[in-house]
Amino acid sequence: MTDALARAICGRLRAAGHDAYAVGGFVRDRILARPTGDLDLATSAHPDQVLELFPRAHPTGLQHGTVTVVEDGCPVEVTTFRSEGLYSDKRRPDAVRFVSSIEEDLKRRDFTVNAIAWDPLTDALIDPFDGLADLHDATLRCVGDAAVRFGEDALRLLRAVRFHATHLLMPAPGLEEAMGAAAPGLARIAVERIDRELSLLLERAERPSMGFEMALRCGLLPLVLPELLALVGQAQNRFHAFDCWEHTLVAVDAVPVGATTVRWAALLHDLGKPASAEEHPERPGEFRFFGHEKISVKQAEGVAERLRFSKRRRAAVIAMVATHMLHPTAEWSAAAIRRLLRRIGADGLDDYLALKRADVAAKGTPDVPEILRGVDEIERRLRAELDAGSAFSRKDLAVDGDQLCAALKRAPGRWLGTLLAALLERVIDDPELNDEARLIALAQELSEPS
Ligand code: ATP
Ligand code: MG
Repeated sequence: MTDALARAICGRLRAAGHDAYAVGGFVRDRILARPTGDLDLATSAHPDQVLELFPRAHPTGLQHGTVTVVEDGCPVEVTTFRSEGLYSDKRRPDAVRFVSSIEEDLKRRDFTVNAIAWDPLTDALIDPFDGLADLHDATLRCVGDAAVRFGEDALRLLRAVRFHATHLLMPAPGLEEAMGAAAPGLARIAVERIDRELSLLLERAERPSMGFEMALRCGLLPLVLPELLALVGQAQNRFHAFDCWEHTLVAVDAVPVGATTVRWAALLHDLGKPASAEEHPERPGEFRFFGHEKISVKQAEGVAERLRFSKRRRAAVIAMVATHMLHPTAEWSAAAIRRLLRRIGADGLDDYLALKRADVAAKGTPDVPEILRGVDEIERRLRAELDAGSAFSRKDLAVDGDQLCAALKRAPGRWLGTLLAALLERVIDDPELNDEARLIALAQELSEPS
């Protein structure tokens, strides 16, 4: 389907006397027979010529020579062959210069595996940097001199981290040394671009830990997520096989691909452990971390602020970090289970359970399967409460504020919130009470001066 799209657009450009190829991740992933993302095309045609040939195209990034062509309802980016000038601010090329050959265009690309062009009309590959060989050997290699390329654009450091983890590409000799040397350049990269790379790593890699380990080895971590550093080497206790850093990474990997927000929470959930660590008085070498989740929340808020998380992602991550130390057990009463639901909310249940399972798995101890069976049982009970329509929030109560004001003949005020909270408490203890007449009677009783 997308191959046909590439053929159609390149065909029209060729018929008009221009050169055109598919490039970038589409070609890389097509060769690997992986699901392909967006189709990117490169052409010798200038943007105005592309716009002329495709009346439904719109100029989306003219300063970079990019036009978006819409074919069969699919948007396809068509970019004029270009080279890039100096990167004096380490963010964006100073000048984009159009060039006439695909080989020139491929030279500006970051890694050899991303610098292969595919001719959809002849099925030929243009591969001046032996990207195909590197794909076959699973090697991550820069186009040209690594030190120069990372020096031009430090975002490539995080792209290296990402492709290492998502495509299991092993760094070519010298690549990591060059990454380490270029690390300070990250300080000048826009946070939105840093967040995007980290999120793509968490979203797409089977094991994002590979990327974070590389970031640690190459000295990138202090520049992008310095909060994580204190986890490295922080010992735990008999309930854990790993130190805090390894535990965190195993937890991130244990969250299924696709649950990116939960993976963010797994990455940040134990940030507060090092600061709260206290050696056990009777067991030297073992540590306790009382109240660490509160410090984790503070630090996670700092990360969310700095990387400008969306409101939604921030709220979900913070909620998960804040509740990860709630450990329901088989002994919990039904009312305690309902209180847990009130705390995490019906909407937060999936996230809570996903982080719980990952956190348990990352203990790395022999009792993990047994603890996970306990989590299954708790989930069953939590869902049964939800299915039973039990009340967890004020809006689930059989009376609302207006009814209470009318029944008690009082004007709304602070008393109302207090009363609703008290009624909800009672209903959580005894769901049978959630009935209009019974709640009004209870409200009258509770409001009587004692
Ligand atoms: P994916 O789309 O799967 O995330 P991709 O490799 O296609 O991966 P894009 O960001 O879509 O990544 O970029 C398309 C292509 O543009 C890349 O394959 C690479 O050739 C080039 N490219 C992107 N960013 C850079 C960069 N910072 N420096 C050099 N080349 C880059
Ligand atoms: Mg792409």
